[in-house]
Amino acid sequence: MEAVRLQGARVLRDAQGGDARALLGSRGSSSSSSSSSSSSTSGRVRLPLRRSKSRLSVVALDAAQPFDYESRRMEQMHKESKLKVGIVGFGNFGQFLAQRIVKQGHAVLAHSRSDYSSLCDEMGVSFFRDVDDFCEEHPDVVLLSTSILSTEAVLRSLPLQRLKRSTLFVDVLSVKEFPKTLFQQVLPAEFDILCTHPMFGPESGRGSWNSLPLVYDKVRVGSGVRDERCQRFLEIFEREGCRMVEMSCAEHDRFAASSQFITHTVGRMLGKLELESTPINTKGYETLLDLVQNTQGDSFDLYYGLFMYNINATEELERLELAFDALKKQLFGKLHNVLRKQLFDVGSAATNH
Ligand code: NAP
Repeated sequence: MEAVRLQGARVLRDAQGGDARALLGSRGSSSSSSSSSSSSTSGRVRLPLRRSKSRLSVVALDAAQPFDYESRRMEQMHKESKLKVGIVGFGNFGQFLAQRIVKQGHAVLAHSRSDYSSLCDEMGVSFFRDVDDFCEEHPDVVLLSTSILSTEAVLRSLPLQRLKRSTLFVDVLSVKEFPKTLFQQVLPAEFDILCTHPMFGPESGRGSWNSLPLVYDKVRVGSGVRDERCQRFLEIFEREGCRMVEMSCAEHDRFAASSQFITHTVGRMLGKLELESTPINTKGYETLLDLVQNTQGDSFDLYYGLFMYNINATEELERLELAFDALKKQLFGKLHNVLRKQLFDVGSAATNH
């Protein structure tokens, strides 16, 4: 008996001749039929097949069963598409990311300076107080989400020798040149490096990540399975609808200083004014109140990190100051003109009088 595969149906041709059978909805059993009409009883469908010299058995496969080769292969492929992501630094942003990663079916483990065991239990994340235990779990990806200021100390304290020989290191720091250089200096050559910056946070990305930018730079990613692993990690953001922006770390820092740092600075400045909602809020004012709320939710460490670890930040702060001075000069210059005009007009009127 020879077997031929036809669009999901197993066709068995009996060399001795005879009729053909097709089974749908029931597997494993066979039915013999010589009927030429089609019928369906208890899930069986007899296909109208002409009698021929050779016997043809058509066995249509129904839903895949767990013991099938196909099912096992599918299951394996599903498992292979899932990553074991180890998050180091389980603060505000680490938790925010973990939520979505878990939701996508990846295994997430975490390690942090503080104890997040009970929170992790609720979130479906395995928490490791001991960093050696964390590394011995051999995550595919180690995701660094510590404060910018503590990153170097945390990275240098990791027992890298306990990790898999090829591990993908990812950072989500809001500055990019600094972690890139640090990773290149500290991590062994076999480790891959992906620098990312999700340009949103727990406030701005609360509901959906759709259209929010994810900046990334594949600083050092091997080929083949290593590139696939990196791609699978990036897919986490793609699936959430992020706008994927590939850009060098240096370019990121230039853009970020004039956008992100200015946003945080203005938000924090306005925060110091303790602005309050009024019954006659304009849309513009509402935007300012939102800005204050968005930026004040972040730690001061984060803001300080934006300033300290982005070489373009100081220049932006100076530009901001100059712009404010220029605006003040413009206002007072106009005011002086009005006063001067009044003084001279009064003066000339008095003389004439
Ligand atoms: P953060 O204040 O920048 O960082 C808090 C995290 O750093 C916590 O996990 C904390 O650990 C850890 N940490 C702080 N000091 C430490 C130290 N001395 N030793 C060890 N760990 C230390 O706040 P975040 O918002 O969670 O940000 C985390 C990272 O994500 C930062 O690099 C930030 O630039 C980046 N990021 C944040 C946002 C955002 O909107 N928040 C957006 C994009 C990127 P414990 O909690 O265990 O104390």
